[in-house]
Amino acid sequence: MRLSTLMNAQSLKVYTATVLILLLILTQIAGAQTKSSFHFKTIVIDAGHGGKDPGAHGSHSYEKNVALAIAKKLERLLKNNMQDVNVVMTRSTDRFVELNKRADIANRLNANLFVSIHCNSSPEGTAKRAHKEKGVMLLVYGFHRKEEQLEALRENASIYQEKDYKKNYAGYNEKDPTAMIVLNTFMQKYRKQSILFGELLNDQFVSHDGRSSRGVKEQGVLVLAHSAMPAVLVETGYINNSTEEKYLNSESGQDAIASSIYRAIKIYRRKIRPAE
Ligand SMILES: [Zn+2]
Repeated sequence: MRLSTLMNAQSLKVYTATVLILLLILTQIAGAQTKSSFHFKTIVIDAGHGGKDPGAHGSHSYEKNVALAIAKKLERLLKNNMQDVNVVMTRSTDRFVELNKRADIANRLNANLFVSIHCNSSPEGTAKRAHKEKGVMLLVYGFHRKEEQLEALRENASIYQEKDYKKNYAGYNEKDPTAMIVLNTFMQKYRKQSILFGELLNDQFVSHDGRSSRGVKEQGVLVLAHSAMPAVLVETGYINNSTEEKYLNSESGQDAIASSIYRAIKIYRRKIRPAE
């Protein structure tokens, strides 16, 4: 009786010690990860579409060109005003880049933030009313309901321009929302920071530029699914709304959009840093 009680006490001690050591290791890992996230060193700017994939279109312009023009303006702003940050573009010319390659670029560099620039478009062939849809929308990768998938499905359609899409996106099935979840490996870890950045962007577009906004939405966007860092897809406006198409193609409109993204990055960077 006594011996077994002693044995139990011994095992309990060993057990407690093991748990404590494990906790210590876990705390250290978590600490190291938190510390490394404070070093905000690299931003990847992703101009949506390109080359054979024009994206959405308006009456006289293509999404791929608008996205690249805004991305370049944002690149310049960051390079001029945030010199301690490494700014990398997934494309700087009119060329096609596969969706998973865009995320790979950011992952290889251990980027701290991935900003993908796009234009929205209301569905073709619907009532005229649809072409009056306007405003920005910020997409964050996440769980979603089928009916909220419009933007994700349109943006994900880029993969059909890729030769090996069946191999590269095995398991991707637009009709099966659960398949999207399987694709995602990192998402939950970066969800909160992505939403925070999305909200900061939303605030800049609305309060500073007076744009209307559809807010921050969680959708199964493939280009974000593979990014191992906070990531937001910016739908900068509706290219098939004539007023917005004009704005999206104007120098002043593009400057305003790039500046709003730049200011949101500046605030975001400050927010995720510890007090100095
Ligand atoms: Zn797009």
